[in-house]
Amino acid sequence: MKIAFIGLGNMGAPMARNLIKAGHALNLFDLNQTVLKELAELGGTISDSPRDASKDAELVITMLPAAAHVRSVWLNEDGVLAGIGKGVPAVDCSTIDPQTIRDVSAAAAKQGVVVADAPVSGGTGGAQAGTLTFMVGAPLELFATLQPVLAQMGRNIVHCGDVGTGQIAKICNNLLLGISMVGVSEAMALGDALGIDTQVLAGIINSSTGRCWSSDTYNPWPGVIETAPSSRGYTGGFGADLMLKDLGLATEAARQAKQPVILGAVAQQLYQSMSQRGDGGKDFSAIINSYRKPK
Ligand code: NAD
Repeated sequence: MKIAFIGLGNMGAPMARNLIKAGHALNLFDLNQTVLKELAELGGTISDSPRDASKDAELVITMLPAAAHVRSVWLNEDGVLAGIGKGVPAVDCSTIDPQTIRDVSAAAAKQGVVVADAPVSGGTGGAQAGTLTFMVGAPLELFATLQPVLAQMGRNIVHCGDVGTGQIAKICNNLLLGISMVGVSEAMALGDALGIDTQVLAGIINSSTGRCWSSDTYNPWPGVIETAPSSRGYTGGFGADLMLKDLGLATEAARQAKQPVILGAVAQQLYQSMSQRGDGGKDFSAIINSYRKPK
């Protein structure tokens, strides 16, 4: 299948690589020439614009940082909608607010194009391994068309409902993740300050009612989980600034719905302080340093 893939960053590049490996012909577009050249060497074709990439594509996929990029890549004069053929399936995999993808979808519908949202979880490791979870918001017919292609980049392809619901699932999950990491950090730091061995404490939590992914897979205390970013100086993983972005999406969506997200707002401020200290590029589990005495 000929696929336009636009946005080839930490997530998009390995996703595109998996599609090339699966035998698809890719039209590639990004602002970063280095990654374009790298993927062209694997067999992709470099395009001059999102419009150019979409012209003869049978499917369009975008994977961009935030809502402003999604709006410009889809709606600008040289954007996807200026090139895409009528009836060609399309999907945006970026993590953005539900309203933006609904706006893009409404603009696309005017020219006979149906657009889905399919944000992902699983991080860069999942993108490389092809084990991402896709949370898809789309009419069932489009979901059925996308499913086999998404399955070449991911393991769980979940239909969440109509367009926008993928983003809702994603921001609710990350709201909880941001809060649970703060909770685990608070408990681990308190235990240490009160004098219990942190390995023992983590073991108790992970076999008791406090257990969660932030404690048993991604524990923020260094050395508890060897494979977690906390055990390698909080490098790699999921940057605190991306978590801050996702909590911003959740609190903004909540504001629009007049729905309280009290702990989410507190967590957002904690990650914001972390970012202000210059630590926004560290893995989000480094939030535990807000609770630890400086050495
Ligand atoms: P990234 O910043 O590494 O990559 C974004 C890419 O988009 C870059 O290569 C950039 O050059 C390109 N880009 C920006 N503006 C563009 C434009 N106008 N036209 C063409 N290309 C443009 O980001 P990422 O880590 O790949 O994340 C992408 C999305 O996936 C984000 O919404 C992020 O929140 C989400 N996400 C990231 C992770 C993760 O662990 N990194 C996990 C899940 C979801």
